[in-house]
Amino acid sequence: MWSESYFWLIWLGVAIFMEFWAMFLHGLLWHGPWWVTHKSHHEPRQGYLEFNDIFSVFHALLAMTLIIYGCEAQPCFFSYACVASGFGMTSFGLAYFVVHDGFIHERLPVKFLARFAYMRRLRNAHKVHHFRDHEHPFGLFLGEYELRWHRNRRK
Ligand SMILES: [Zn+2]
Ligand SMILES: [Zn+2]
Repeated sequence: MWSESYFWLIWLGVAIFMEFWAMFLHGLLWHGPWWVTHKSHHEPRQGYLEFNDIFSVFHALLAMTLIIYGCEAQPCFFSYACVASGFGMTSFGLAYFVVHDGFIHERLPVKFLARFAYMRRLRNAHKVHHFRDHEHPFGLFLGEYELRWHRNRRK
C-alpha cells in the first residue's frame, strides 16, 4: 500500500543518499579512471564551463528521466518511487550546484552564504580536497566529518 509519507521519505532519503553517492563516485571514479574529465575541475577554469560539468548534466538527465517516466507510467509504488527519487536527486543537485559551484567556486553571486558558519566550514573542508588534489574529503555537505574520520583512522 502506498502512503503519501513514503513519497517524502523517499525524496529525503535519496537526497541524503546522493551525498554518499557523490563521495563514492568522486573518490573512486573521478579521481580514478575518469580523472581525464574531473581534472578540469582541479585546474584553473577557462571561461564559465568546465569539462567536469558533464557529470552534473548526466545526473540531471537521469533525474529528469525518473520524473518523466514516473509521471507517464501506471500509478503504482514503483512509479511514485521514481518521481520521488527524481525529486530527491534534483534537490541534492540544486544544493550542490549552489554551494559547491556557486559559493565555493564563485560561479554564482551567492557570496552572502559566507555569513553562515556552516557554509564557511563546508568551504574550508572542500578547499582541503582542492589543495591536496587526490585526498579526502570527496563528499561536500559532510566533508568536514569525512575529513575528521579519515584523520582519526590514520592515527
Ligand atoms: Zn576532486
Ligand atoms: Zn570543487
